[in-house]
Amino acid sequence: MTRERSTPLLLTPGPLTTDIATRRAMLDDWGSRDAAFIAITARVRDRLTRMVGGEDGHVCVPLQGSGTFAIEATLGTLVPREAKALILVNGAYGRRMAKILERLGRRHETLETAEDVPPDAKAVAARLAGDAAITHVAAVHCETTSGILNPIAAVAAAVAGQGRRLIVDSMSAFGGIPLDLRRVPCEAVVASSNKCLEGVPGLAFAIVRRDALAASAGNAHSLSLDLHDQWRAMEGNGQWRFTPPTQVLAALDQALVLLDEEGGVPARHVRYAANCRVLVDGLRRLGFETLLPDALQAPIIVTVRMPADPAFRFDAFYDGLRERGFVIYPGKLTEAPSFRIGCIGAVQPQDMEEAVAAIAAVMAGLGVASGAP
Ligand SMILES: *Cc1c(COP(=O)(O)O)cnc(C)c1O
Repeated sequence: MTRERSTPLLLTPGPLTTDIATRRAMLDDWGSRDAAFIAITARVRDRLTRMVGGEDGHVCVPLQGSGTFAIEATLGTLVPREAKALILVNGAYGRRMAKILERLGRRHETLETAEDVPPDAKAVAARLAGDAAITHVAAVHCETTSGILNPIAAVAAAVAGQGRRLIVDSMSAFGGIPLDLRRVPCEAVVASSNKCLEGVPGLAFAIVRRDALAASAGNAHSLSLDLHDQWRAMEGNGQWRFTPPTQVLAALDQALVLLDEEGGVPARHVRYAANCRVLVDGLRRLGFETLLPDALQAPIIVTVRMPADPAFRFDAFYDGLRERGFVIYPGKLTEAPSFRIGCIGAVQPQDMEEAVAAIAAVMAGLGVASGAP
């Protein structure tokens, strides 16, 4: 992995720090209907499908836009108008799926837990057993709001056990946390280019069961977000229906080569876990507390409780870290007062050591003795 940059490291949930080779892959122009670009599209789709063991029954449908575009397209295409969905909510991204279904006018209910409590597979099974009208369940893999790792395998088993279909928002986990569709039955898994795959933003995709997609014609509420049409067109001539983000796809193609070179998803997971360990240990040495216990923490993004010391001003803390070359995440999504620091992207444990040292220096500058909440 090559460090060569003039901008700060992004310790955020995405877009993230990318490798220079990934950014360089964007220097060419591509004809979107030319054979060379068609070949990139096919290669990327195939790689993404295989990454989660989906090559036997699933296909990858890429879509222009951010991750939410693909979530909306997947829900709108796979959940028929007369169907009913159950959304598992323990943060902002679960709530967003409920909001999308609300907009689409599709029947849905939520099963909510607190932001530091994962959904319980037994409760999911009980809810489904009690309501035969529910056809689909939607769940978030890593709920980036808090950084909690939701038990997607147990949820998938409960949903399959009740004969229903599961749609997974794996936006912040895909490529960083292993998932095998041969063991974890999902109708669709949705993700984007700019999180654990370490590509640049502008493209998202769903890995969908081929039979479900084939049966979904006419469901979508939207032309541009119709995953079925996007798939049919791509199967036909290998092309995107509408202008694709050509450079973004070329960058993702290169990012996937780097992922292979790293040793695939298991190796990336090990690096992210090491990044997270260094960060959490360092923060605790400085008195900070994480929102989540280690057993629930995904190695993706860490939510840190706001320090109690009145000398701690978040804006000054953020600016001080920015000056030292680290951009953390200013947005608070959790109910508890907190801020977040990401551990994904083209960053190494050594970078996290340096981030912890920068945090200590900025605290000293602010006159904050401890990060304790
Ligand atoms: C990032 C993210 C999304 C999509 O966000 P966009 O800003 O639309 O890319 C959806 N779900 C989760 C869990 C995410 O982390």
